[in-house]
Amino acid sequence: MRQSALFISHGSPMNIIDDNPYTQSLKQLGTTLAKPKAILILSAHWATNGSVVSVVDKPETIHDFFGFPDDLYAIKYDVKGEIASSLLLAELTHARIDRRHGFDHGAWSVLVHLFPKHDVPVFQLSIDMSKPALWHYDLGKTLSTLRDQGIMIIGSGNVTHNLGDTQSDRDAPVEKWAKEFDDAFSNALIHDHEKLISFDLPHFAHAHPTLEHYLPILPILGSQREGEIIHTVYEGFQHGTLSMRCFKVG
Ligand code: ZN
Repeated sequence: MRQSALFISHGSPMNIIDDNPYTQSLKQLGTTLAKPKAILILSAHWATNGSVVSVVDKPETIHDFFGFPDDLYAIKYDVKGEIASSLLLAELTHARIDRRHGFDHGAWSVLVHLFPKHDVPVFQLSIDMSKPALWHYDLGKTLSTLRDQGIMIIGSGNVTHNLGDTQSDRDAPVEKWAKEFDDAFSNALIHDHEKLISFDLPHFAHAHPTLEHYLPILPILGSQREGEIIHTVYEGFQHGTLSMRCFKVG
């Protein structure tokens, strides 16, 4: 059975332990998903020069964030890797193989809410920062063949991500530029992927001073098949400017 593809905005690592409307919506979403054979995740926090796929039997949980409460560093996301599917992915995408890479927090911070039972194997494909946006979108067509084999594809990044322009208060009022960007993004999501590929959105350079949190969006969109609908599964902001918008394809 064909699996869906998801894009999840992950925001601050505090979402790993916080109970808020965003984390509640991820937990709720998890209860509605058909259990996949495995999950392939593309995370902003594994950005590389050239594509890399993790081929690891028991991936470790990486706590790649600093200055957060001790509780966060004690959490582990213990699931197996998926050797056969990850080797197939490396072949399909001509990616290098990494036999050590564990789960970065962009990956496990969303999985703790979506798949809290730790019962689905997970593997990762890095974000190749050397490639243009259209390449990332076209990558989705290759990944859609994995969806046909029961593998869920998850992109983990943020619809807006300018850490130099956030408020410390999680529930701070939303800033105008972030709202304008998010509105244009949500419109283009349904009607005009070309705009998303060419970064033709208001305040783009301010919303994404670097691209690693934006690029994981594109392969998820590129995996959309004829007749499939994109559903918004969460919309809202944290810290005044972080759009936590999440969507599902198929
Ligand atoms: Zn991040």
